[in-house]
Amino acid sequence: MTGLSGSGKTTIAKELEKRLRERGLKVEILDGDIVRTNLSKGLGFSKEDRDTNISRIGFVANLLSRNGVVAITAAISPYRSVRDAVREQTERFVEVFVDAPLEVCESRDVKGMYAKARAGEIKGFTGIDDPYEEPLAPEVVCKTAAETVSESASKILAALERGGYIPSSAEQAAAV
Ligand code: ADP
Repeated sequence: MTGLSGSGKTTIAKELEKRLRERGLKVEILDGDIVRTNLSKGLGFSKEDRDTNISRIGFVANLLSRNGVVAITAAISPYRSVRDAVREQTERFVEVFVDAPLEVCESRDVKGMYAKARAGEIKGFTGIDDPYEEPLAPEVVCKTAAETVSESASKILAALERGGYIPSSAEQAAAV
């Protein structure tokens, strides 16, 4: 998943995780905020460091997914080139654009970061004074200002089924 801070990545990831687990699948969320406290500890927010962070997340997600674990990545991932590089390196990849207008993300201000960025207390904040490059051809777009968390999760599940990455609900029912 890619999208601005506060667009809804973590919220949708958790709902998706729940729904996939209900289907008996193994799931791991690689959340940007959490990854930055361990796997990417010490990295900052320059373009280079952000790209390194996303490459690492992509690397681990690929290891998980090729061993049958659904890996959900929820980091801003602002740069198109590294997202596309991860796509190339990953056998099974679905890009989800969690798309909410900046004004909406800012009004949610889940972590109080936008207020700090506007006050100049945080420099290089995505969407304020750092770029966000929208995906050009994402498999799924979740418009979180207009749809519910449940609707967004359903769209992603449907895309996973369409791609043959997870069994469809019909196949699952038949197997029981
Ligand atoms: P991110 O992980 O992208 O930074 P979060 O998931 O932490 O974003 O925050 C998104 C906020 O928006 C949460 O407070 C969530 O409850 C709220 N929200 C409102 N509507 C939606 C929606 N349709 N989808 C996802 N989040 C939503």
